[in-house]
Amino acid sequence: MAPATNQADAGSKTFEREQELSIAANRLDLLTQIKRAVERIDAGTYGYCESCGKPIPKARLKAFPMATLDVASQATRGTTLISARRDAARE
Ligand SMILES: [Zn+2]
Repeated sequence: MAPATNQADAGSKTFEREQELSIAANRLDLLTQIKRAVERIDAGTYGYCESCGKPIPKARLKAFPMATLDVASQATRGTTLISARRDAARE
């Protein structure tokens, strides 16, 4: 086999491996979120926003059962994260 072919094979194998790792990481993240939701059910705090304590609307929980924040708190947190990233990028 020509060296170029070996390099292409190695490249596609690396790409496949990275994809597999990415999928595994996503599944692990999902599993962690499900475990947290079960813990919240046991603790009696499931369905309440972790930030402001208000009940999370049923429609949101139906769409995303692992939600730990209501839409308002999620939006606030998202904005905070984005502005923190912007601040970090400026430095
Ligand atoms: Zn909230």
